[in-house]
Amino acid sequence: MSSSGLHGHCMHIRHRLICSLTSRLPKTGETIHGHKFFIGFGGKGANQCVQAARLGAKAAMVCKVGNDSFGNNYIENLKQNHISTEFTYQTRDAATGTASIIVNNEGQNIIVIVAGANLLLNTEDLKKAAHVISRAKVMICQLEISPAASLEALTMARSSGVKTLFNPAPAIADLDPRFYTLSTVFCCNESEAEILTGHAVNDPTTAGTAALVLLERGCQVVVITLGASGCVTLSQAEPVPKHIPTEAVKAVDTTGAGDSFVGALAFYLAYYPSLSLEEMLKRSNSIAAVSVQATGTQSSYPYKKDLPLALF
Ligand code: ATP
Repeated sequence: MSSSGLHGHCMHIRHRLICSLTSRLPKTGETIHGHKFFIGFGGKGANQCVQAARLGAKAAMVCKVGNDSFGNNYIENLKQNHISTEFTYQTRDAATGTASIIVNNEGQNIIVIVAGANLLLNTEDLKKAAHVISRAKVMICQLEISPAASLEALTMARSSGVKTLFNPAPAIADLDPRFYTLSTVFCCNESEAEILTGHAVNDPTTAGTAALVLLERGCQVVVITLGASGCVTLSQAEPVPKHIPTEAVKAVDTTGAGDSFVGALAFYLAYYPSLSLEEMLKRSNSIAAVSVQATGTQSSYPYKKDLPLALF
């Protein structure tokens, strides 16, 4: 992380995803055999940071994991993606945040999320990272640590003139109003927009209506992602909703597409600030479209070297 860098601020509960695939979900007290088990990296903050770094951003993660094997592997994964882990804290007071998932053949699942170390990221930790935050070009923030810590990080960034890209996920209906005013760019998906506004969002028109509601709460720019339909945006400067469609691709696995999109958008905000917002979103759409054509989350995120030069 440096003054020329992009600061991926990690805020999420699912640092490690522990998944068992079974023919059916077990009943209470029952033990069954599954047919596949895997442990994946997450969650939103790390995914977004990894995507930005793979595009060439100089990135750092500010977050907290446990002093356990999951935490060690998590840090190793960030390092392998050339992300600074100077402020990826490890604590003995809680385990690394996890999501334990059982998925049956019908795709139904049961999930237990344990936030663990995520909730221990505190003011002192943020103060230690203050110089990285204040010298970043962009700080990305999600809702997977305590809202107080998220607000504090956003306030630190904004008071140093750092652009903030806020991804209100997982969404909560009664989001503190300060999250809107502290967001340079407020970027969410359809279901998050629906939870936050109470309006049904399922196409560019309804997304435009919801985006206007979010804009009026004080963000400078609102982006609502719409899966295969791309995204909708509007800003204080241009408060008319604009639909940015994306190319049709053969989607194999859309898991983590939203994080690929957010990571890419952060990259463009940091390194190509003179591009129009529309152009940044077109390019972010293109990068997320690559991610849906391969399986997995981080494993599907493209590297700069594999992308068309026109995106850079
Ligand atoms: P997820 O929760 O699966 O990570 P999300 O719901 O947060 O995703 P989406 O709105 O589904 O986010 O997708 C984010 C972006 O990814 C879209 O704006 C688009 O650019 C791209 N994308 C998603 N699905 C597709 C698809 N089927 N074809 C092309 N691009 C896609």
